[in-house]
Amino acid sequence: MVKLFSKFLNFVFPPICPICGEALESYGALCAKCWAGFNWISNPKCFKCGYPFPADLDLGPYPMCPHCAAGENDLDFIRSACVYDDVSKNIMLPFKHAAALKYQMVMSRAMINVLRDLNLNVDIVIPVPLARRRLFKRGYNQATLLARPIAKHFSAVLDVDTISRKYKPDMGHKNAKQRRENVRGVFKILNSDKIKGKKILLVDDVMTSGATFYELNRVLRKAGVSAVYAVSFCRVVHAI
Ligand SMILES: [Zn+2]
Ligand SMILES: [Zn+2]
Repeated sequence: MVKLFSKFLNFVFPPICPICGEALESYGALCAKCWAGFNWISNPKCFKCGYPFPADLDLGPYPMCPHCAAGENDLDFIRSACVYDDVSKNIMLPFKHAAALKYQMVMSRAMINVLRDLNLNVDIVIPVPLARRRLFKRGYNQATLLARPIAKHFSAVLDVDTISRKYKPDMGHKNAKQRRENVRGVFKILNSDKIKGKKILLVDDVMTSGATFYELNRVLRKAGVSAVYAVSFCRVVHAI
């Protein structure tokens, strides 16, 4: 029955590359040409935060970036599928602001992929919350859409109501320090019994300075979680 249905689906909506429209074998993928346009993050990278290092560097099995080495990142692991650039922006922004759902599977699959070699045990997946005002305006939280297939992959609970977020005007082009101050105190744990002792995976579409993940990590640790991981589709990469 499922097979018959998928044959029917293939006939009515044949799988195509969501970027260029080329016909494909299966759903939720990109064509080889569009795939090759992304700056996917592979090794070598910081083993804690996933910051990409130049490809020709041999830094041993556990390379660390200066931020993590300085103890500025208290999450267990952060990973991002690709670098934020004109190519990733072209699917990330329509997905975020114009509900371009055709990119959902491609983005969350890439995020699942980048977590694979960490062999994580995840109890609860939490999409980075939007303030209620933003959520009403946009109608959906793009991070929740990305988190759903990820939670399914880990057989984890998808949790969208344990953390609330206070509204604050957009962070715009602020530097890392201003971003940290701007996000400080905006998250509130509404029910810590639900997360105590659990391993949490945070999900967002883009990581800019890491300030949002760091702040969520701070409040989650205070609430007694046992591990905090985070994954984003893309991340802004500055030279360090
Ligand atoms: Zn394509
Ligand atoms: Zn790092």
